[in-house]
Amino acid sequence: MNANLYDIFAARFPQDRTACCIETGCGRRYSWDEMDRASARIASLLASLDLPHGARVAVQVDKSPEAVMLYLATLRAGLVYLPLNTAYRAAEIEYFLNDAQPSVVVCSPANADWVQPLADSAGTRHVYTLDELCGGVNRGTLLDQAASHADRFDTVQRQADDLAAILYTSGTTGRSKGAMLSHGNLSSNALVLRDYWQWQPDDVLLHALPLFHIHGLFVACNGALINGSKMIFLSRFDSAEVVRQLPQATVFMGVPTYYTRLLDEPGFDRAACARMRLFISGSAPLLPATFTAFRERSGHTILERYGMSETAMLTSNPYDGMRLPGSVGKPLPGVAIRTANAEGHACAVDEIGGIEVRGPNVFKGYWRMPEKTAEEFTADGYFRTGDVGRFDANGYLWIVGRSKDLIISGGYNVYPKEVEAVIDDVDGVLESAVIGVPHADFGEAVVAVVVLEPGAGAAVGEAGIIAGLKEKIANFKVPKRVHFVDELPRNTMGKVQKNVLRSRFA
Ligand code: ATP
Ligand code: MG
Repeated sequence: MNANLYDIFAARFPQDRTACCIETGCGRRYSWDEMDRASARIASLLASLDLPHGARVAVQVDKSPEAVMLYLATLRAGLVYLPLNTAYRAAEIEYFLNDAQPSVVVCSPANADWVQPLADSAGTRHVYTLDELCGGVNRGTLLDQAASHADRFDTVQRQADDLAAILYTSGTTGRSKGAMLSHGNLSSNALVLRDYWQWQPDDVLLHALPLFHIHGLFVACNGALINGSKMIFLSRFDSAEVVRQLPQATVFMGVPTYYTRLLDEPGFDRAACARMRLFISGSAPLLPATFTAFRERSGHTILERYGMSETAMLTSNPYDGMRLPGSVGKPLPGVAIRTANAEGHACAVDEIGGIEVRGPNVFKGYWRMPEKTAEEFTADGYFRTGDVGRFDANGYLWIVGRSKDLIISGGYNVYPKEVEAVIDDVDGVLESAVIGVPHADFGEAVVAVVVLEPGAGAAVGEAGIIAGLKEKIANFKVPKRVHFVDELPRNTMGKVQKNVLRSRFA
């Protein structure tokens, strides 16, 4: 059997290959047959380059169906797909190309003038451009050259353990690391999620996420591909456009910010969600207030799940059982998850510890970082996620933060999430981030950065928040200072950048 992820998708494509696979926001439609033939042409082109086993194809292009064709083609050709954030500019791309040393670089035509020299100096021999087809006009060299290649391609044989992709982490806690994911990592996760989230034959995924990240590519896109489901592809998240498209869709996936923005959209109501089956949130913590407001407005209960570039998805709230606000749910079938305390022992129920995981979804290691890889695995083969949390008596996992964000003040552990939850409950507070900053006496001092609700005004002040917290939580957890900001710094995946806050308020 061929463990190549493409063949696992193709075995589940719908029988009617003329059915729509991807429809863009502006109404262009590609059938399953067209995706198959277009990706075969690109795969044939890639195969003609005669690249060595494990060669990387680095891709920084705008989101489009053509980008999916390239992703599928790379899998089919047995090469390693390496997507890069479209926001990256020259200094970042230089770093990634030198680190990954791809054999092929595909960029958007608009960036070719500065990407080409960077690829040259990284030793990349093949550089192409790719753009969305616009009015039937192709503006890139990749599709131009692929056009003369065969539209049939025998998927290259791959073992479950062979590399399918290198995915750079979001860089929330430091420089991005390349997570090496195998065909088996990705297919096992996609198959588990298909069952767990009960994908239906007639599901339609409204896809508004970027394609260079685990969420948009390996959860959303792979999820639709392995179920033979149509995707409505939006080039970016736009809440009004999402509301316009929702009546045609049954599944939606987003980061928490998407949900708060949808709630700000006047046209977002039960009628818009009439056909919807499932809303999924991940990549960052969903505020319980958003969870509740969303349920009241739409009649739908958001299903929150948790995962990371290194492991794909790990836990999910249940499809049929209780979806709990603030919890990321239970371990997915086949995924072993434990929490370990500072002594390395398994935590008791409700005891907070480092989250460690093992399973067919867990990556093969960080690209060219053998020491870092070795450090992050335990002797018995569990990966240390760097996240901290606790399991409750019902087996639900509650994340309290990242180990790097944990605050030790005067010798006591302070878990930011716990303090943030209490601050968020204060009238007039929209959201907050709690960080530790160096302090001569305490080692670290707890500091809160707060965003007020529009119009909350002067009623909510630093002294008031601190006094209120003193009645609710132990003194060592109460912030020494409260700073007010208009918004929290977030990266493209909606993750709060606490390192930015730490240096700003140090
Ligand atoms: P880096 O590893 O480069 O610092 P990153 O960890 O943000 O960046 P990703 O792999 O994209 O990079 O994100 C995974 C992380 O996102 C998880 O380790 C976890 O901290 C966070 N995360 C994902 N889903 C959730 C969730 N539902 N609730 C809370 N945190 C989540
Ligand atoms: Mg990480």
